[in-house]
Amino acid sequence: MEIETTRLARINRDVNASTGRTKPNAQNAPILINRDHPVSESAAVTESRLVPANSRPGIRVLDAGIRLDRTCLEQLDALLEAVNGKDDIVVVSGYRDLAEQTEIYSSSLQSNGPEYTAKYVALPGCSEHHTGLAVDVGSAAGGLDFIAPEFPDEGVCGAFKAKAAEFGFVQRYKAHKEHLTGISCEPWHFRYVGADHAVIMEERDLCLEEYVGSAGYGEASHGN
Ligand SMILES: [Zn+2]
Repeated sequence: MEIETTRLARINRDVNASTGRTKPNAQNAPILINRDHPVSESAAVTESRLVPANSRPGIRVLDAGIRLDRTCLEQLDALLEAVNGKDDIVVVSGYRDLAEQTEIYSSSLQSNGPEYTAKYVALPGCSEHHTGLAVDVGSAAGGLDFIAPEFPDEGVCGAFKAKAAEFGFVQRYKAHKEHLTGISCEPWHFRYVGADHAVIMEERDLCLEEYVGSAGYGEASHGN
């Protein structure tokens, strides 16, 4: 009984009275996945959470087989609606299993070489795409390259980027954070972390390595 009361008090404390949204806390902290933090079994996405990206009306996809975590897709849909971007922005990549990432990695090694691959392709097991919470988007006007689609700062893509945090997305790999993320600037790769976290990360200019480490959420990531 006492435990229940304590739990309830904690839950109440974690809800923002004005917005009704859950405040950032250790329980809802975003999962950090990078070369030093491979996806663990506990973080592995369950099949039941994955839905086809084109199951939402009007969402354009590079491949009909692309799937995303259902919450990630709902928020992506809302973000695309908010910027009127469904005609111009295409979902290029979403959830990938280990076999798919292994194939992408080795085919990039063959066609693009080791330097390019190290910059833009995560090692199998170390990709956020394994969670279904990462989405690559490209401008329909661009070439829609699978690994590095064009996603300019201007126009509808710029509007998408500017509003992304409100809908829970962060541009995961920025140019000035390369030494921390280990990945080169990727204007096209967005990670869903939830709006509460995303807004703080944007305001304080923190990449996920810094955010998870500084807040003491989950496993510390010092020295990445
Ligand atoms: Zn990506």
